[in-house]
Parts: sequence; C-alpha cells; structure tokens
Amino acid sequence: MASRERPLIGLTGGVASGKSTAARAFEALRPGCRVDADAAARAVVEPGSEGLAAVVAHFGPGVLGGDGRLDRAALRQRVFADAAARKRLEALLHPRIRAWMLAQAEAATTPYVLLDIPLLAEGGGRAAWPMLARIVVVDAPVALQEARLIARDGIDPALAAHMIAAQASRAERLALADDVLVNRGSPAELAAAVARLEGHWLRDAQPP
Ligand code: ADP
Repeated sequence: MASRERPLIGLTGGVASGKSTAARAFEALRPGCRVDADAAARAVVEPGSEGLAAVVAHFGPGVLGGDGRLDRAALRQRVFADAAARKRLEALLHPRIRAWMLAQAEAATTPYVLLDIPLLAEGGGRAAWPMLARIVVVDAPVALQEARLIARDGIDPALAAHMIAAQASRAERLALADDVLVNRGSPAELAAAVARLEGHWLRDAQPP
C-alpha cells in the first residue's frame, strides 16, 4: 500500500456492474470509508454554489427550476445530443466534483478511503486521479450488466445496450485495475470478495 496514511482507493465499473453494491459492502465493513460521487455531483451544484453559477452562466437560466435549483432533466436534455456541450459541462463540473471528493476524503478517519468514481476510465483514468493508491474495478460480463441495468432501471434492452456501448469498454476499464472484484455470482459472494480484498489491503499495510 502507498505511503499515504489513509490511502485513497478508487472504485469504478460500468453502469450496473455492481459498484454501488460493492461500495455498500465496504461501507458495512468500515463505516465512513466511502466518498460518494453522486453526493459530490449534487453538492457542487447546490443553490449558491460556484458550480451552479458556472453552469447557469454557460447554459442559461433555462437549466434552473422554479425553486432555483438545477433542473437536472432540463440540463440532461440540453446536452443529450450535443457532445460538445456535454464536454463543456464535464469541464465545468468534474474538477469541482474531484475537489469536493478529496476534501471529504481528508476528513475520513478510516484506514483507507474509498472514492466512488463511476467514470474513472472515461474521465482521464489514472492521469486525472494521480492521488489514488489503488484502483478497484467491479467487473461483470456485459450480458449480466445489461440484464441488471434493465431490471434496475426498468428500461428496454436497446437503451441498456446503448448506455453500455457509450461507456469505456470492459477491457479499457480492466486495464486500469490494481484489483478486480468479479461480480457474476450472488451479492453475498460479492460481499465476501470485498471482505477478502480489504483484508488483503489491511494486512499489507501492517509493518512486518
Ligand atoms: P452500479 O452502481 O455499478 O450502477 P448497482 O450496484 O446499482 O450497479 O447494481 C446494479 C443492479 O444489479 C442493482 O439493482 C443491484 O441490486 C443488482 N446487483 C448487483 N450485484 C448483484 C449480484 N451479484 N447479484 C444480483 N444482483 C446484483
């Protein structure tokens, strides 16, 4: 394990691969170890935040709801079919999300801090996150990922396939992995793999 006192560990995986399920298993073992990307994405566009001001300055007041909060559906629609707009939105938000997550990580008191980073492979990989001591990839066969996505989100198979195809490939993600959590068995098997992996980290972190 790296020399940092509380190593930062990135957790990633494709949509519906089981990242959240794995993250919950880590959290159950080590309460407070997890910094959640969804929470970060919400926090950086809270009313009054610089992030919200930047998004409104760029995309116009049409992305605000009547309550002054970001209207995520309106924003999604605005960038849905416009790759350049999506890139600009990411350029506004990703550095803020990263900074928020790192600040949260500083406050953690667990032996390691797990940063949940769904788009790690798409968002610049290790180069964008040089502070990570390790990267853990949750991996599942694409057919299983697709079935879980359809069941979880109630979407049709074509949309599920499209969402998966729009992300980095399984191989691209696995190329970043220091550790792989294979999620093709039961949730209990995934939880057991999480416990084994964290045991391995903590043993290795002990001085001889
Ligand atoms: P992600 O966070 O990667 O998008 P989730 O953890 O939400 O994925 O998992 C996607 C869906 O698959 C969820 O409904 C979850 O309950 C289910 N799931 C995850 N792992 C398993 C598993 N090992 N067996 C059965 N269902 C699973």
